[in-house]
Amino acid sequence: MSAGTGKEASALQARGLVKRYGEREALRGVGFSAEPGELVAVIGPNGAGKTTLLSILAGIVRPDGGEVEVPAGEVGWVPQQAALYRRLTVEENLLLFARLEGHRDPRASAAEMLELTGLGERREEIVARLSGGNQQRINIAIGLLSQPRVLLLDEPSVGLDPRQRARLWLFIAGLAERGTTVIFSTHDIQEAERYGGRLLVLADGEALFDGDAGGLREAVRREAPEAADRDFETAFVAYLQHRGH
Ligand code: ATP
Repeated sequence: MSAGTGKEASALQARGLVKRYGEREALRGVGFSAEPGELVAVIGPNGAGKTTLLSILAGIVRPDGGEVEVPAGEVGWVPQQAALYRRLTVEENLLLFARLEGHRDPRASAAEMLELTGLGERREEIVARLSGGNQQRINIAIGLLSQPRVLLLDEPSVGLDPRQRARLWLFIAGLAERGTTVIFSTHDIQEAERYGGRLLVLADGEALFDGDAGGLREAVRREAPEAADRDFETAFVAYLQHRGH
């Protein structure tokens, strides 16, 4: 379908996505593509449409307009609320999800995820007793069970302390280095700048910016020069205001 567009290498493409909830337009024609191994940060204020966009890319919400091209069955979804069984152990959780997904050898899949997430030593621990950071790693491991080429993470670092965040990002960056396309949403502009190779700025359902962190800084400087010397978050808020948000 994408023949001749020069985008054959894309892991994911979305075009003109529209989503309405009654009168409200959560997305108004958002499009973007991502390459294998790219780390894309989706940022924007509350209600911008970040979760809606990720849910559509994950195939769990149907858009009212536009289209998504992703390799079939190759998208892993990590929602904001971890769906873990808190009274089961780390390994039991992975086994359960591997069985639910119909893996031929659930034990082997669970063992692989334990290895990948570095949680092998904690395999017998009850999930409720783990730190928020480790719970989030299991949540991500479940999203990775199907070995997807595209991994979607909805605010993966919420509630983690700085050290847990750093470890989580090290892990996620490792996945991207091995070729997984990672698309994550965040409210933390510094986190987006630090870890997102590309930033997609959404506001009121529209894409205001799509490019790298340097490009966003330039756009902010251009459109909100009075705030350019302030910290980036302040300047970014001024930029959104200039753009009418
Ligand atoms: P936040 O940063 O607060 O998580 P977001 O950028 O993820 O916000 P969405 O959750 O995608 O934004 O919501 C976009 C808009 O769509 C909001 O106005 C929201 O109220 C609305 N919306 C989202 N889901 C639904 C739903 N199931 N029913 C009705 N309105 C919805």
